Amino acid sequence: MQIAGEEDLYSIILHAPVGICILHAESMTIEAANIHLLKLINKQAEDLAGKSYREIFTLAKPGDESALKMAVEGRQHQDDKGTMIQMLNGKKEIVPVTFVYKPVKNNKGKVTHIAIWILENTKEVLDEELAAINEELAATNEEYAAANEELAATNEELLETQENLRRSEKLFRSIALNIPGSLILVVDRNHRYMAIEGDIMERMGYDRRDYEGKHPSEISPERYEASRHLYERVLSGEKFSIERKAETGEFYLIHFVPLKNDDNIVESGLIITLDITEIKQAEEKSAKLAAIVETSDDAIVSKTLESVVTSWNAAAERMFGYTAEEMIGQTIYKIIPEDRQNEEPRILSRLNTGERVDHFETRRLTKDGRLLDVSLTISPIMDKQGKIIGLSKIARDITDKKQEEQRKNDFIGMVSHELKTPLTSLAAIIQVAQKKLAQSEDQFLSDAMEKANQQARRMAAMINSFLNISRLEAGKLLIEKQPFDLGQLLQEVLEETQLTVTSHVFSLKECSNLTVNADRDKIISVISNLISNAVKYSPKGRQIDIGCKLNGNMVIVSVKDEGMGIKPDDLGYIFDRYYRVETNHTRHISGFGIGLYLSAEIIKRHGGEIWAESELDKGSTFYFSLPRAESPDNL
Ligand code: ADP
Repeated sequence: MQIAGEEDLYSIILHAPVGICILHAESMTIEAANIHLLKLINKQAEDLAGKSYREIFTLAKPGDESALKMAVEGRQHQDDKGTMIQMLNGKKEIVPVTFVYKPVKNNKGKVTHIAIWILENTKEVLDEELAAINEELAATNEEYAAANEELAATNEELLETQENLRRSEKLFRSIALNIPGSLILVVDRNHRYMAIEGDIMERMGYDRRDYEGKHPSEISPERYEASRHLYERVLSGEKFSIERKAETGEFYLIHFVPLKNDDNIVESGLIITLDITEIKQAEEKSAKLAAIVETSDDAIVSKTLESVVTSWNAAAERMFGYTAEEMIGQTIYKIIPEDRQNEEPRILSRLNTGERVDHFETRRLTKDGRLLDVSLTISPIMDKQGKIIGLSKIARDITDKKQEEQRKNDFIGMVSHELKTPLTSLAAIIQVAQKKLAQSEDQFLSDAMEKANQQARRMAAMINSFLNISRLEAGKLLIEKQPFDLGQLLQEVLEETQLTVTSHVFSLKECSNLTVNADRDKIISVISNLISNAVKYSPKGRQIDIGCKLNGNMVIVSVKDEGMGIKPDDLGYIFDRYYRVETNHTRHISGFGIGLYLSAEIIKRHGGEIWAESELDKGSTFYFSLPRAESPDNL
């Protein structure tokens, strides 16, 4: 083989496709470099000559130092890899390279120079790097994927949170909107409106779009100034309520509630405004009513269906002597006298059938044991469904009225009594005169005596009624019972009536052999009254039928006429004292409205009953019942 000459070798090294650089082993200065190296490090030959290796290759890896040291010591280090910055087309580029340090020895074996080979990395190296980069990339990718997944999860959470937030806001709005007559505001620590909702929002002059996110001073500085101290109070943690009356007349109740976070720090203020106009008006109305009740002269009392007192006004305190404190929660029986305790259940049963109890005259007991005459008006208290939940009772003290009545009765009694004596003698004189004149030639005198006799009887009957009524009122109407034949008595009364009454046609049927045990005179007055009414209230020429019927132990007597009849509305009252039916017809018929009242009282005191059936313009039938004497109980 032929060895190339020195010149040839020099040219080969100079143009070799690897970077070659020769260092002086002691000074470490560069002595020579080939063209490829200059290109690799982008320098000119003059830049390198005499320069220290370390100065030029500052970017060499720290491993170079030990590899270089080994080469100086005459040993060969394995290839070392590194990178260099290369300027290509004016751009910095990092070039992966391998440095190979070779010691160059003289013939004595001393290292005089170091040859440095700078090899650009081969495909292998690049592949390796690429693989490493790829690996790194894969790892990064994995990390990226994981991060992505996390991001997706976070996103989902975020979406969910957003959805929850949306739902809570919707819930807040629908709650706020559905509280009738309300406005709900939330302000943050700086008084800025966070939320506003409510069905009276517009009426109160708020518009959500103008308010949410805004500061009150931006909207209405005056309004803000007026309510600023309230915002400050609530945000300082105070919970309170105030009442306001609007210029337009509405009343508002405003609650201020501090809203705290988990650390118990006030974050915002909740302001709830409620329209309480209706409640206020109702309060005012009930205050007025309460004032009326309190100032009334009548005792106004309410009680439960179990007769427990629930309210007791000032007049009740004055009238009965018990204070509200003493009576509320107590039974009303406390003021009902012993002998009238059964009135309460009777009143209750009447109210239960929907009846009202008006002007029921009775007596009540005061705390100090006095008996008061009272007139009671009792009405049911109903709930919205019409169910009776209690009773209200108005009691009027009628003691004065009763005393007045008593004086009147006493007067009637006294006058009647005084009239009776002269009337009796007058009647006796008339009867004697009538007998004497019966045969007289003078027809006028005999007729006049007859008429005088009739009028004296009528007057006696009237005076008797007045006497009886005054006795009745005074509780002195005595019933003196004796057995007698009712049929016979009816016959006698009828005959006597027929002596004076010729205008009507009478009949008496099925009334024989009926013995009763009763007060004869008083029963006569009852029958006379029913017959005279039948005559009074039916036109001339009409039929009047008297009949009897047995019903168990009772005898029922009926008096039937074909007269004007009685309207159903009046029928329930004709047995009341002084009650008279007011019509154009009855106006001209004289009477006092005491006949049926007295009759009813007399029959009741015999353990019987009295009632009437009637049809307007057709006629009426009056009935009364009396126990038969055959019954051992009645003898
Ligand atoms: P009076 O003295 O007014 O007749 P009563 O107590 O006997 O008093 O009767 C009360 C009222 O009942 C009468 O005013 C009358 O309106 C009515 N009345 C009584 N009986 C009859 C009858 N047979 N027919 C129609 N109305 C009657």
